[in-house]
Amino acid sequence: MNLKDYIRDVQDFPKPGIGFKDITPLLLNPQALKQGVEQFVKLVEGKKIDKVVSMESRGFFFGPLIANAIGAGFVPVRKPNKLPYETISQEYALEYGTDVLEMHVDAIQKGDKVLIHDDVLATGGTAEAVVKMVEKAGGEVVQLDFLIDLTFLNGKDKLEGYQINSLIEY
Ligand code: AMP
Repeated sequence: MNLKDYIRDVQDFPKPGIGFKDITPLLLNPQALKQGVEQFVKLVEGKKIDKVVSMESRGFFFGPLIANAIGAGFVPVRKPNKLPYETISQEYALEYGTDVLEMHVDAIQKGDKVLIHDDVLATGGTAEAVVKMVEKAGGEVVQLDFLIDLTFLNGKDKLEGYQINSLIEY
C-alpha cells in the first residue's frame, strides 16, 4: 500500500497558485490510516518521547494518534487566543507579515523529550517556530515527523541540526 495514492492534489486552494495536499482521502481509508500511524510509530522505535506536539489544525489528525500509540502526552499548538489558559507564544515570518503560535505554559516540563508532528513541511517556518517555543519551555526536540515533505520548498534548511522524517515526499 502506497500512502501517496491517498493524497489528493487540489489546485488553487486556498488561493490561486497553491497546490494543496489534501490528506482527507488517507484519513478516510481505514488501512491507509492504520499504516500511517504504524509508520510514524516505527520512526520513534527505541526512543523515549514524553510529548507529541502538533500544530493547528491538520497536525491534530495524526498527532494524538501517534501520542496514544507510543504512550506519550499530546500538546496542541494553536493560533492566538484559542487556548483558554495562560500561554507562551512564538512569532514567525510569513510571506507577507508575521503570525503567532501559542502553547499552554504547563504543556512542556523542563527536560521533556518532544516529538513535533505536522501534516505538511513546506517552507519550514511553522515548524521552526514550534521548535523555538518547545525549547523556550525547556523541552528537548528529539525529531520532527511529517506526513508530507514538499522537498522543493527546502523546509529542512530552516531546521538544520534536527532530525527530520516524512512518510511521503514530493
Ligand atoms: P510552512 O510553515 O511553510 O512549512 O507551512 C506549513 C504549514 O502550512 C503546515 O501546517 C501545513 O498544514 C500548511 N501547508 C503549507 N503548504 C501546504 C500545502 N501545499 N498543502 C497543504 N498544507 C500546506
